[in-house]
Amino acid sequence: MASSEKPERRVCPACGRGRLARVVYGRTAPTGELKRALEEGEAVLGGCVPGAARWRCPECDAAYPELPAR
Ligand SMILES: [Zn+2]
Repeated sequence: MASSEKPERRVCPACGRGRLARVVYGRTAPTGELKRALEEGEAVLGGCVPGAARWRCPECDAAYPELPAR
């Protein structure tokens, strides 16, 4: 386990600037890995009602049901 590199995050095709964050649904208080992901912008909270969006752009607020093709 020498490498701690993270996979490259997909750039939003709508604005070309934001990096897509995964949408996490539920009311659980973020802890551990999820808390870290939220702080680093890798994940966003989607609320307690699950929706179709699995990925969201923090820059333009575009939402995607799955990762868009490059
Ligand atoms: Zn965007």
